[in-house]
Amino acid sequence: CGIFGAVGVTDAANFVALGLHALQHRGQEAGGIVTYDPVEGFNSARRFGYVRDNFTSQTLMKTLPGALGIGHVRYSTAGSKGAAIRDVQPFFGEFSMGGAAIAHNGNITNADALRRELVERGSIFQSSSDSECIIHLMARSLQRNIPERMEDALRRVEGAFSVVAMTRTKLIGVRDPLGVRPLVLGKIGEGWCLASETCALDIIGAEYVREIEPGEMVVITAEDGVQSHRPFRPQPSKFCIFEHVYFSRPDSIIGGQSVYETRRQIGVELARENPVEADLVCPVPDSGTPAAIGFAHESGIPFGMGIIRNQYMGRTFIEPTEHIRNMGVRLKLNVNRALIKGKRVILVDDSVVRGTTSRKIKEMILDAGAAEVHFRIASPPTAWPCFYGVDTPQREKLLAATMSEEEMCQHLGVDSLKFISLDGLYRAVGEAEGRDKSCPQYCDACFSGEYPVEPADMIKKGFQM
Ligand code: 5GP
Ligand code: SF4
Ligand code: MG
Repeated sequence: CGIFGAVGVTDAANFVALGLHALQHRGQEAGGIVTYDPVEGFNSARRFGYVRDNFTSQTLMKTLPGALGIGHVRYSTAGSKGAAIRDVQPFFGEFSMGGAAIAHNGNITNADALRRELVERGSIFQSSSDSECIIHLMARSLQRNIPERMEDALRRVEGAFSVVAMTRTKLIGVRDPLGVRPLVLGKIGEGWCLASETCALDIIGAEYVREIEPGEMVVITAEDGVQSHRPFRPQPSKFCIFEHVYFSRPDSIIGGQSVYETRRQIGVELARENPVEADLVCPVPDSGTPAAIGFAHESGIPFGMGIIRNQYMGRTFIEPTEHIRNMGVRLKLNVNRALIKGKRVILVDDSVVRGTTSRKIKEMILDAGAAEVHFRIASPPTAWPCFYGVDTPQREKLLAATMSEEEMCQHLGVDSLKFISLDGLYRAVGEAEGRDKSCPQYCDACFSGEYPVEPADMIKKGFQM
């Protein structure tokens, strides 16, 4: 998901809508905005579909007045399939000291247990979302102000959470102690904003100030600026390495590094580790493009757009049902026959999850008359599900969970299939020594099976680590 908030700006809703539009790649199912105005109070709008199709209507935007607002773009992760409008964030709660709204990116790994406990004690849930737990935990806290109630609530929550919240006067941002999901701070005129990624600051002309640190809570008002709190016990950070590979936008900056440059470097490492003789390096657009550029550069094999993407389709993977996802590949990608014919082609993609995309693409490329097809993948085999906010399927459906590299190669029917090594990936993200096995610098559970937070609910449901 993508989250954004702004305080101390005229018509905050417009900034929030633009910020969410820049974060649309993080979630395309639905979006929502909450604003506060001293005269009009809290207002909210939650809609299915793209930001640009909803939050551009003047009629709607006029219902969201105020200098303070937050928003969310949604992408449903495991357990909450088939979105209902009541699952669309931000969530709102009315407390004795006033209202508060929250927007959450990530996944709470003990949400089932928390929900059971809260329901037994009388909480009435409005949605099926794990994020709603935070509001109910806040309602039960005995603290006298909302930021402290939020601290109380979030200390009970396990898993990954980047949160943007608001009260009548304050914009609040929090990252979980491991800092799994991103969150950055920006300055815009006299005001401030919080966003999942820096590309959302660029779109509104905000200046990048810094990242919210793992385990940090910032409380921001227009008058007093940014106050930093540390509600959690410090822990070694475990930022999601897959943000670098796929999830974030290439024009964003993470930890001072350009995501585009990191992906290009992944391609360089991939070419060093897994060279192959061929005539053409083709990206699977758009997610494979920077890595393919790096691969072509390092290998000296010409780069070409052998697959053309229809710009009017969204990300296939993010479509919630398998049926639409299967259709998606053809609706979205087509082969550039004139370029491919007779050539030995290296296809570079970011990841193989179920293998549906790769299989379809291989067929399309061979139909177009390619002499050979070699897959080079910019991440290690995805053998484990993510429980921290990226939608990977159950373990059985992950190709790499049940097959060796050789078997995957045969299953896909390609001439060769190679993945970047975990160490190679770490080198590409800037860890010269590779992965620190005793304390990995990132979360890489979907590749390594080493989960930095025990997925408590899933273990109860029978998941074996
Ligand atoms: P597959 O067809 O193998 O299931 O999916 C692989 C494709 O989906 C890749 O081209 C990649 O761009 C995209 N993808 C891979 N992993 C993820 C993920 O965890 N989340 C999303 N949204 N897309 C993914
Ligand atoms: Fe990211 Fe993978 Fe960890 Fe999920 S399991 S947070 S996708 S690195
Ligand atoms: Mg892709």
